[in-house]
Amino acid sequence: METTILRGGRVIDPAAGTEVVADVVVRDGRVAAVSPVPVLEPEATVVDVTGLVVGPGFVDLHSHVHSVAGQRLQAFDGVTTNLDLEAGLMPVERAYAEAAAAGRVLNYGYSASWAEARGQVLAGVEPTSRFDGSLELLGNPAWQRDSSATELAAWLALLEGELAAGALGIGVLLGYAPRSDPGEYLAVARLAAAAGVPTYTHVRDLVEVDPTTPIDGSREVTIAAAETGAAMHHCHVNSTSRRHVDRVLATLDDARAAGAPVTVEAYPYGTGSTGVGAFFLAPDRLRAAGLAPSNIVLLGTGERIADERRLEEVRALDPAATCLVEFLDERAEADRELLRRALAFPDTIVASDAMPIEWPDRRADTREWPLPAGATTHPRTAGTFARSLRLMVREHALWDWPEAFRRCSHLPARVLDGVAPAMRAKGFLAPGADADLVVLDPAAITDHATAADPVRPSGGVRHLLVGGTFVIKDGQLDVTAYPGRAVRAEPR
Ligand SMILES: [Zn+2]
Repeated sequence: METTILRGGRVIDPAAGTEVVADVVVRDGRVAAVSPVPVLEPEATVVDVTGLVVGPGFVDLHSHVHSVAGQRLQAFDGVTTNLDLEAGLMPVERAYAEAAAAGRVLNYGYSASWAEARGQVLAGVEPTSRFDGSLELLGNPAWQRDSSATELAAWLALLEGELAAGALGIGVLLGYAPRSDPGEYLAVARLAAAAGVPTYTHVRDLVEVDPTTPIDGSREVTIAAAETGAAMHHCHVNSTSRRHVDRVLATLDDARAAGAPVTVEAYPYGTGSTGVGAFFLAPDRLRAAGLAPSNIVLLGTGERIADERRLEEVRALDPAATCLVEFLDERAEADRELLRRALAFPDTIVASDAMPIEWPDRRADTREWPLPAGATTHPRTAGTFARSLRLMVREHALWDWPEAFRRCSHLPARVLDGVAPAMRAKGFLAPGADADLVVLDPAAITDHATAADPVRPSGGVRHLLVGGTFVIKDGQLDVTAYPGRAVRAEPR
């Protein structure tokens, strides 16, 4: 039986809210002991981590990274489990099988895709089990309309099938079909409540931004939670709330105080990323949001969109083309403060919304490391967690280390307890926990990814273990390590 001892680190257990200097003993993929007294085991591999912070690896609820290259970047950001819950993949069975066949560095999992289920029934588009397929669908207006009663029943049945196949709840890209009937959204929440699974929503417009919206996007989430009892997760509150984030957080706070099961996530960037064909990037929607075509930059070519005519053109030409959208001005202190407030809100979960990495020759993955030059993605893919720690712990002292790990690891794992009981062994550091561990230098942890160099790995993660296997050791990636395992809903 192989034993690894992480010797003498500052051990954080966010479940207990504690930080103690201790040895962490890892055996058979689990934490066997946390001991303030040095553990002497002659056979064990001992790694001295004196002065370093040791905690449960980060659980990213919102990652569209489905590649070895992307998972490796996220590993350097402290992530040990990356889940695509907002968009989901369909058919989920195929997505799990393909990931298992290719090998994964981090633990992985998917929700059932509301958009793909609707796309199949309303627009006749066959789902591909790939995220780029979803981006293409999102630009197609045919799937965004209201459903007839028969159509609604048909796509709800598809979602039910996906849940039976192991999907981790239902991902709802409502903001991409924001004129659809709010009654349909309630039907999804009722299905989730009956199945005992969460939903994860990219909300539709806020009333402040679009007074003609059928319902306020954030309030809709809280109403559905209160009305149906389903656990409703509000995705990236920073990007959908923008300068209305205080009002939206107050809405969520009221709902939670009243007992509604609502959770929320944010990432620390004022720039978003999506397919350029998205509903909310149409020239009139953009104008209504107070943004301009010049706030959009195409990722592949680096082109900043000159005007509305050019925007129409690129939307028609390649609606799935990924772009950056500057929704806040990160050069302005007032806007940076909004991002910090979104993160500082009680129980906000850190989630990256990590995006696929793409090379100029259209390649979407590689096993080469370091990554070949020329790759594009949103910098949040590589930097969300280290940037959050730099801002919230190191620079602004808004979180201590137990609180930081609570936001990055403990709380996100708890969102999944009900649907995937295996998650109950994640998000804490005590005997019996899965040995998904990050060991970081508290003085050095920082993001390095920028718009100009978006795949530069974060700095400061010294070691990273997934299920007891080192993915990163002494700051170096082990290119032979593929310890990632599927996280799936368990049949009940
Ligand atoms: Zn989104």
